[in-house]
Parts: sequence; structure tokens; C-alpha cells
Amino acid sequence: MKRKKHWGGKFGILSVIAVLFVSVLFGSLGSPTSAEPEPAERIVEEELLHVQLEVPNADAAMKIMEMGIEFDHGIHEHDGVYEVEVTATPSELRQLETYGIEVHEVLMTEKQWNERIAEMNAVLERNESAILSEERLQILRANHYTNQSASFLYVEAKSSVGASSSTALTATWTENGVEKSATLARRSDYGEYLYHWFELPVEEIPTSVTITSNQGATATSPVEEWLGGVPKPGKPNPHYVSDFIDSYMTPTQINERIDQLAAEFPDLMEVIQMPYKTNGYRRHAQATMGGFTNTAVVVSSIVWGHEGGNGMEVEFVNPGGANSPLTVSVDENKITVSLATNAAGALTSTARDVVNALNNQAGDLVSANTYRGNTGGGIAQVWSSTLTDGLNGPEYVSREPATVKAIRIGKKKDGSKPGVLGYAQEHAREWVTPLVVMETAERLLRNYAHDAETKKLVNSLDIFLIPMVNPDGANYSFYDYNMQRRNMTNHCGPDGANDFGARSAWGVDLNRNHSVGSIHDGFIGASLSCTSDTYAGPEPTSEPESRNIVWLADQYENINFGMNIHSHGGYFMWSPGAYDANRETLPRPSAGEEAFYWGASEHILNRIQEHRGTVIQPTRTGPIPDVLYSAAGNSADYLWYEKGIYTWNFEVGAPLWNPATNRWVSVGFQPPFEEGHEEALEFANGLIGLFEVAYQHGKDKQPPRSTINPGKGTYKGPVEVSFETSEPATIYYTIDGSRPTFESPKLGLSGTREPAEKLLINETTTINWFSVDPAGNVEKNYNPSGNGNNFNSAKITIK
Ligand SMILES: [Zn+2]
Repeated sequence: MKRKKHWGGKFGILSVIAVLFVSVLFGSLGSPTSAEPEPAERIVEEELLHVQLEVPNADAAMKIMEMGIEFDHGIHEHDGVYEVEVTATPSELRQLETYGIEVHEVLMTEKQWNERIAEMNAVLERNESAILSEERLQILRANHYTNQSASFLYVEAKSSVGASSSTALTATWTENGVEKSATLARRSDYGEYLYHWFELPVEEIPTSVTITSNQGATATSPVEEWLGGVPKPGKPNPHYVSDFIDSYMTPTQINERIDQLAAEFPDLMEVIQMPYKTNGYRRHAQATMGGFTNTAVVVSSIVWGHEGGNGMEVEFVNPGGANSPLTVSVDENKITVSLATNAAGALTSTARDVVNALNNQAGDLVSANTYRGNTGGGIAQVWSSTLTDGLNGPEYVSREPATVKAIRIGKKKDGSKPGVLGYAQEHAREWVTPLVVMETAERLLRNYAHDAETKKLVNSLDIFLIPMVNPDGANYSFYDYNMQRRNMTNHCGPDGANDFGARSAWGVDLNRNHSVGSIHDGFIGASLSCTSDTYAGPEPTSEPESRNIVWLADQYENINFGMNIHSHGGYFMWSPGAYDANRETLPRPSAGEEAFYWGASEHILNRIQEHRGTVIQPTRTGPIPDVLYSAAGNSADYLWYEKGIYTWNFEVGAPLWNPATNRWVSVGFQPPFEEGHEEALEFANGLIGLFEVAYQHGKDKQPPRSTINPGKGTYKGPVEVSFETSEPATIYYTIDGSRPTFESPKLGLSGTREPAEKLLINETTTINWFSVDPAGNVEKNYNPSGNGNNFNSAKITIK
């Protein structure tokens, strides 16, 4: 054997097995000879290729063995020939070809192998160097909470070497005098290590938890109540009325209820007819004529199904004689295609021929195309079809483009009051979400007269509610295909999946169709396929339903809070909502904005909990990429980044804890109404919680105050300076002695799920800064755009 290279030791056993296997396959081969011819080109060290060979017979197999080429695994037979995998040089392969052996694809080159090894070594090195550096271990959260079923302990901890799979974290705590422990699970997303975590039911709430890393570090934290930071609400007004929902509601029912409420409460409510009509709960009537992809002709009516397309008949007939031409005849509602025949009377029209004939001779009634881009070279079959749009909604469900309605509630609706927007059912199958909005609207209207809290909100705010962003999809979900997520618009053109069989796969995901963080700009978490459930549309804001959201935000500039209501999962999230292929997110909110998001969230989640104890879990609360995934082109990101609107995303329908199995049970998109009803009521609480946040925000005229720690002075060696603020507020700062402005750096977070960053000062520096709260109040009424110098300033002298 002169083979110069071996890919490690794996060939020994495998080749013996392969030889035995081949012996069985080809009958007796005799023993492979060890005397091997040595072609001249073998002197040159060649790259080894891992290839698949097609071996026609036993003689050819013998030749492979004679050349000393070893079989790898992967011998299989198809259509009477045998395929084997071998590792050989290009010159050996050339010689094998002279024996009638066909060389198929290169399975793996040596170069690729080397790349795999390098890849593996890089990870090992990274892990090793991470572990060699000193470990920093932080407990990000140690929370307890009690929901309607049990009490839970939840811990998130982050190790500076946590990205390495050899880092393991263990938690210990005490329950009823007994020490308990648990291993934390590592959480990463799209290649980024986020943190380690665990969540377990507990019998007694522990006071503290200790995390120990196998890399040496330990940390201890007190266990605090999740959502415990805000005062629990007082007793509600006994006359407060709620629960106006007694079933799921279709778009027809929602619109009727909206009109009823508007008529009943003309002083408090108006209906905004949004300008962009949907494409309608309608389709062209269709049939796919022919049983094979190359014989089928897709026929679609020119008019909509309900306008006469439904019931049109199309027939492909055999004329029953020789040398007949291809003809098309139209008789009222019926199109007959007489297929061509040859001298022997056999049919000769291809699917493509029929497509062309239909388009040329019946193009005012139907359009035709081959099946999903097929060339249509097969002979068209005798076939008969009645075209249909396949829509099962009752006749009273309008097929026309729909006007999407927004409800506007407020005592003074002139744009002078702070605006809040809640919108639901971008995704059609999320049946609970419009109920949340309708319940909320009705509570505001029916409690206004006798509940002081409600009166305060309605008098002070300008509330916009869209129960159903996507009525066409909603109709489709109720009447035709319950799992419909998108709108109904077919963007699959004649070369795509535009046939009847794909009808439930059409539509644009309205929460992926917006212009910020779009897939069209390289962000992750949407699709460009017209049949994908996260189809982003042919271009940003291509859909009327999305344009309505943009229009509303443009039209009512007073809107500064938003809630994008989805189901299910029990999530509560905010921007950024998308990242690119390097997991680079849209800009993170500043540390102050983030603190505001968290603080307001706590209030809102407390409201949700009041109804039946549902606790939105800490692991499901936070910026979207930290808790769920990337969602390119979602509408909440549009509102935050483009319009400066603080916008959250609800995923109503939190999983329910089953104590018998110790598991969370998912509730789904369309739970039994009994459960959907509870979800609607509890999240209506949450939406009213958002109004309370907006109200407080609107009343906030108090500028924030801030300090640094440590303060000005002289220090030996570098110091880490942190900022403290009297309320959530964004810090703008400079370290070059200049005036801080809105263009200056903002204090950010030190990392995913981590607190605000600290400034490392290692030489004498003057820090100048000011803070701004979410209502826009600037500390000391400093004017960053003016010339004044009433910002904060501190000199840190390093000796
Ligand atoms: Zn959704």
C-alpha cells in the first residue's frame, strides 16, 4: 500500500465490513490482491476525494479492490446497479472510469475535512481561553411568584464563560429546612449565549439562592417577588362592571358591536373608518385540470368567484377522430377545449398548448397557466371541472374589500390628550385577541358614568383600539381554515403556487410586512416565499392592513403608547424585535428607556395577575430577541423606531400549570371559550393597565434627578462609575469636557438581560451629563440644544 494519506483510523473495520458486504452482493470475488500496480501519476501527492461510484458489475468491483482502494460505508443498490462510497485520488478515479465505473458527486474533499477540523479546534480554543480567564458570575434575576396553581422559584444567572458547554451552573436553596438543588439550563439564541436559568415549583419560598459554577465562581442573591415592586391595587369599585364577552366573534359581529357602541355612547366614542380597504374575503374561482404536474392546466376565472366565477364549467374533451385540431369554444358559462389528435387518433395537445389556447381564445373569461412553473410538456388529459373560489362563509359575509374600523374613545378627541393605541388580530387565527380589545372598550364606556378611575382615564387620554387588523383572514379562519395566520392576498404569480391546492398557503404576514428591521434589509425571522406562514410580502408595507397602522400613527401624532396584541404563549415583549444574520439587533433602547419599559411592564403584568392569578413569567418578559426570537418587519418595531411610540407586544394565553404532571400546558390559538374568555378578561385588565401607565406619563411634569457613584474626587487607580436616577431616565454624557447634548452618548445596558453599563475611568476625566425621563422632562430644565451650562459635572481625578 502506497496510499499517502488516511483520514484517520476509521477505514480499518469499515472496509472489512464493506468487502464482506460486497462479496455478498456480487458473489464470490476472491481475495483482494495486495500487489498493486503503481501508475506514474501516483508519485505526485494528490488530494483524496470522497466520492460515490456506480459499479456496473463484479469485475469492476474487483478492479477497485485490486487498486487497493478501500470501500467506505454506504453500499446500496438501485435499478440493478451498485453504489459504493470510496476515498480515492483523481488519477485513481480516472482509471476506474476506464473500467466502466461511473464517478458521482464528490461527497467531501480533503479541504472540507480540514475546514471541519479547524472549525472544531476554534470552538475548543475559544472555550479553553474563556475558561482560563477569570469567571464572573452574576445572578440577573432570582424571583418567586405564585399563580393560580402553585408557587415557583425562577433564577437567571450569567457566567462570563457561560458560552462554553463545559460551564455548568448549579443552584442551591432551602425549602422547609431542606436543602434543594438544581442544574441550570443554558439558554442561547442564534449563536448568542444569553444566560443560564431554571424555574421550579417550590413548597416554601426560599429567602435566598446560591449559584455555584464548576469553573469556580459562586454568587448568592436574595429571592424577590416577581411583579412585587409595585403596590397592589386597592379594592375595586364594587359597581365596576366587566365581562361583556360571551363567545368568539367574527368580523361581522365585531363590526356590529362597534356600531352599536358608537350609537349608544356618541359623546365618548367615534368610529374611524381607516382608508386602506383590504383586498376582500374573495378569490378567483379555480380548478386544476389534470392529474400530473406536467399535464395539469390551472384555470382561474377573470372575475371573482362570487361575481360569476363560481360555477363556470371547463371541459377538455377527446374529439374522437384522427387529425383533429386544438379548439376552444365558449357557450355562456361553459368553456370546452377539444384536444388535438394525430393520424392515429391519439391526443397530442400538451398542457402548454391548452394554456395558450385558453388564454388566446377564452382570455376574457379565464386565465390559464401550467402547474407551478412546470413547462407543461405532458399531454393534457380529458378532464372536466367546475370552477370555485372554495369560500364557505355564509352569504351575508361580504366578499368586497373591507374597511377596517378603529374605535376612538375619549372625552376630548381633538389630539390634545396623550394617545394610546391597542390593536389586535394581525394574525387571523388568534381568536381571543379581538375579544381583549372589545372587552376593554366596553369597560371604558360602561363604567365611565359611575367609576372615577375610568372617568379619569377617558377624560385624560385619547384611546385608539383596532379589534381586527385583518378581517379577511379572520373570516377565512372562522369559515374555511382555522389555522389561517395571514391575510388572503395571493402574491404567488402564474409561475408559482397560484393554484387552488395552495389556497390556504397564500397571504402576507402582517406582522412581518413593515419597513423597520425588514427581511428586505437583511433581518431575520420572516420569509420571502409567498407560501410561507411568515411571508413578508413583495415589499415593505405592501398590504393595506399594514398601511392602516402606519396611517393611524401618522394621522394621530399624539399617540405615544402602543400594544400589539397577539396570542398565544403568555409573553410580554418590546423592541428591539429583530436582528440580522450576525445577531446584531435593531438599536437597543437606552438604559433609561429600558428601565421605563420594565417598570411599566410590572404595572401592566400586575393588572393581568389580578383577574385569576396568571403570572406572565419573567423568562417571557423583555425585549423580543431576549425571550423569543427575531421577527423581521413587525409592526411594534415600526411604531417604536419610526414614530417613537412605546410599544409592547402581548402574547395572550399563558400556559397553564398542571400540578398533577408538573408541566406547563399550552392553551393554543383557539382554546375552549371558557379559557378564551378568561384570557380576554385578564388581558383587558392589562390593556387598562397600559392606559394607567399612559395617564401617569401624561401627568409627569417632574424632571428626573441623577447622581454618579462614586462621585467627584481623587482615586487611586481606575474606578467604575455608575449612574443613579430618581425615576427611569436616559443619561446623555460626555467625557471630553464638552457640553452634553441629545447627540452625546446614551448610557446603555452592559449586556443582554443585564443592568445599565458603568463607565470605566482610568485617567483623570470630567464627566458631564444630564438625564431625561420618558415624558421628555430634562433634569434641572437644562436645554441641551441651547447654550446653558446647568448640566451635571464631576471631575474624577486618578492618581
Ligand atoms: Zn400573532
